Amino acid sequence: MINLNKKIGRLSKVSAAHAKRLEKLGIRTVSDLIFHFPFRYEDYSKITPISEIQEGEIFTVIGELIDVETKRTWKKKMTITEGFVRDGTETVRVVWFNQYYLQNSLKKGQSIRISGKVASDSKGLFFSSPSWEVASKDTVHTGRMVPIYSETNGITSRWIRWQLNMIFEAGFEIEEPLPDEILEKYNLPEIKKALRYLHFPKTEDEYLVAQKRFAFEEMFLVQIKSIQIKNEYKRENAVSFKLDKADEKEFTEKLPFKLTGAQQRSIQEILGDLKKTHPMNRLLNGDVGSGKTVVAATSAYAVSKSKHQTVIMAPTEVLSRQHFESFCELFQDQDINIGLLTNSYKLITWDLQLRAAPDRLFKKTSRENFLEKIKNGELDIIIGTHAVIQKDIEFANLSLVIVDEQHRFGVNQRAYLQQRVTEINDGIEKKIPHFLTMTATPIPRTLSMAFFGNLDISLLDEMPKNRKEIVTQIVTQKDRDSVYSFVKQEIKKGRQAFVILPLIEESKALKELKAAVTEHERLSKNIFPELKLGLIHGKMKSQEKEDIMKDFNDKKYDILVSTSVIEVGIDVPNSTIIIIEDAYRFGLSQLHQFRGRVGRGTHQSYCFLFSKTKTERLRVLERYTDGFKIAKKDLEIRGPGEFFGSRQSGLPDSAMKNITNIKLIKFSHNEAEKLLESDPKLKGHPLLSDALKRFEEKVHLE
Ligand code: ADP
Ligand code: MG
Repeated sequence: MINLNKKIGRLSKVSAAHAKRLEKLGIRTVSDLIFHFPFRYEDYSKITPISEIQEGEIFTVIGELIDVETKRTWKKKMTITEGFVRDGTETVRVVWFNQYYLQNSLKKGQSIRISGKVASDSKGLFFSSPSWEVASKDTVHTGRMVPIYSETNGITSRWIRWQLNMIFEAGFEIEEPLPDEILEKYNLPEIKKALRYLHFPKTEDEYLVAQKRFAFEEMFLVQIKSIQIKNEYKRENAVSFKLDKADEKEFTEKLPFKLTGAQQRSIQEILGDLKKTHPMNRLLNGDVGSGKTVVAATSAYAVSKSKHQTVIMAPTEVLSRQHFESFCELFQDQDINIGLLTNSYKLITWDLQLRAAPDRLFKKTSRENFLEKIKNGELDIIIGTHAVIQKDIEFANLSLVIVDEQHRFGVNQRAYLQQRVTEINDGIEKKIPHFLTMTATPIPRTLSMAFFGNLDISLLDEMPKNRKEIVTQIVTQKDRDSVYSFVKQEIKKGRQAFVILPLIEESKALKELKAAVTEHERLSKNIFPELKLGLIHGKMKSQEKEDIMKDFNDKKYDILVSTSVIEVGIDVPNSTIIIIEDAYRFGLSQLHQFRGRVGRGTHQSYCFLFSKTKTERLRVLERYTDGFKIAKKDLEIRGPGEFFGSRQSGLPDSAMKNITNIKLIKFSHNEAEKLLESDPKLKGHPLLSDALKRFEEKVHLE
């Protein structure tokens, strides 16, 4: 019996050097090795007569090693081990490169089993660096479904299989964390069997069912954790806000438009949450332009009516500024004070006395004065970047936190705000603020269930009626002239245009900058010499970006050349054209986000996607305007890891691979709910509880 907690370096066959390399793979204990799952399998299970092997495919053969020799080639400085294997039907050459140690283990006359790819050269067919083992042995490396592991220098799949084989032969004890009923109900193998199926499958079915089992387990744990977080949240205290029907009506009826059904529904869901004495924790998920701002504003309105404070956090200064302006407009004739606090805007505040002033709206103030107004409750709504969560800020009675574009903020910042706010209390009992997160990345329902199971979700899946569909076209180099003359035409009519350049990785920031500068110059000099072109890129200071955006807004530029920095919600209703260069480099969801920069006003808008070829993938954008549909396609094409970006996903591997498996997510969610209803603290399920603790150490959920 081997103790699973044993340090891997203390196994007799594992050297210190091996242990060090294993550490690179995150493997420290025997248990870690057992849970280092193969990422694919090769089917070596069929034995083929040597006379039937063909070039380019994988075959397994058994035969006698009739000759073997290891040579060193001087030119290329490698060793080549070459042998011949005969099985009665034919003889085949076998070649291994740079595996000089083979000369000690391969013995002439031995019967060996070989699995690998068949190649050919001038001397005919040969096996190129195949896996092999002595034929009399149990089949570990060949002659079956062979698992392939992620490897590191000096740790091969073969080495891992060899170790695992010894561990499984020595035996170990591992307890089953999943309840029996669940295993039975979903036909899942118990853990030990599943581990054997994964590492030593006899058939494809065996490893498939094992993978399913571990995916279920992980998703089940994700769901348990999410529901627990949700339930804990429900046990916290929050201030309850009840918005009078009359007030609500007064506010919504003064809006310059009629709310969509989805907006009304979301508002009711939020107002319903705000009435409760435990904090709301809700995600407002709606496409670009679906009208999230007014939903957020109605929530803030409900809180402001009771003279409590709301904070609205946006990821950039430009966005904060836009929210500030929208809110000032929406609350024009309300007795509500709004402040904008960012690093460069900390001086601006909305002040009641200023409303009468002719140049009304904004007044600059000192930071001290601003903070004072937050502290004494004069400011009802505070809008800003992460500047609003700096340590020296004290709130009078912060009761609602709205975070826009949540994925731009780190988890920690959110947690920090939540926690800081918890410290603010009325001296009697701690209250924590209601939380509303808004995201403009449409997230398909199953995904949000998997990722945001701890949040309630409101969907804005309906666009305001007056919206004109953006005409989208994939264009190639030969269309360039006609696209540019179309732009000139539109600008003559008074419209504006964006040109977006790719190269988005941070390591390429300099190149990105150069690309943008070059393109800006090219367009200014050669293409649009009579027009005014602005340039904005990620290396600029936020104040600079701010100024340029503002100038673009004020029509001081006709065209804005930009790197991907404008991705998030900039609203310039007069811009009707967006040109995206090398569009194929972006994901569909991101392109859809860019496209959302236009089509915000009353004029017909256009999106041109430059690409070398009109790929099927890009055609999705020509065909669909519904962000949820596009997200679904994007997810299908790129997979969830890419869809969210690796930094974002926080989910474990098996769960991640199965994220598009709706049934798996639903079943695990339902089972988690059922279990927690009868056993909220998992007292009756200690093994599951332990598994959850281990899981929490590895995975961090929001
Ligand atoms: P987003 O969800 O991208 O934040 P916004 O809240 O900025 O969308 O709304 C986009 C535009 O649509 C704004 O100009 C807003 O005034 C307008 N809008 C919002 N709701 C409606 C509606 N129900 N009918 C018409 N226009 C609306
Ligand atoms: Mg918005």
